[in-house]
Amino acid sequence: MSKILIVEDEESIADLEKDYLELSGFEVEVKNTGNDGLERAMSDEFELIILDLMLPGVDGFEICKQVREKRDTPIIMVSAKKDDIDKIRGLGLGADDYMTKPFSPSELVARVKAHLSRYERLTASGRPDNEVIDIRGLKIDKTARRVWMNGEEKALTTKEFDLLTFLASNPNHVFSKEELFRNIWDMESVGDIATVTVHIKKIREKIEIDSSNPQYIETIWGVGYRFKI
Ligand code: CA
Repeated sequence: MSKILIVEDEESIADLEKDYLELSGFEVEVKNTGNDGLERAMSDEFELIILDLMLPGVDGFEICKQVREKRDTPIIMVSAKKDDIDKIRGLGLGADDYMTKPFSPSELVARVKAHLSRYERLTASGRPDNEVIDIRGLKIDKTARRVWMNGEEKALTTKEFDLLTFLASNPNHVFSKEELFRNIWDMESVGDIATVTVHIKKIREKIEIDSSNPQYIETIWGVGYRFKI
């Protein structure tokens, strides 16, 4: 159950917000002063904070600023004055939403739900995973540019890595040596395509158990190479 902090000095408003949120299944804690609100807002117990701007003691403005320095809990800032909302929005303090009082409690609940689900999506996805190719014991981490064979890391040169990754990213596709040379060496194929042969041989020595009987990079005689999947 998501826990929500309401920092609001007008008790009737705080009660109304609390009732509606509780009816929607949220757990709610209310603080009526800026100082109490700040102290609770800095804890990691809440999934979302509804923050009034004008408060006795520390104001919502300062609370928002201090919370943002430490954490990314969604904050919905509320104020009776539209001008204040515009001012705060302009300052870019990092509140996620702004509402002008009076607002309907159901509108507040809708926004709370929207921000919570957005935040959950963000934190669940987090940093994108590395792009990894994993085929029969051969693991290529394209993002980290590392290669493992049966759990043992293999040191590949830049071009060996590029060539292996290119082939493995296009499995079952036969490439001529010219095509591979153009793709990996990034220049017109006027260079020595024997370079490709040499690199394939080096890669096989590193990733194949028996490089004379390759399981990954197959030689297609008279044509080129293919990564078997
Ligand atoms: Ca107030």
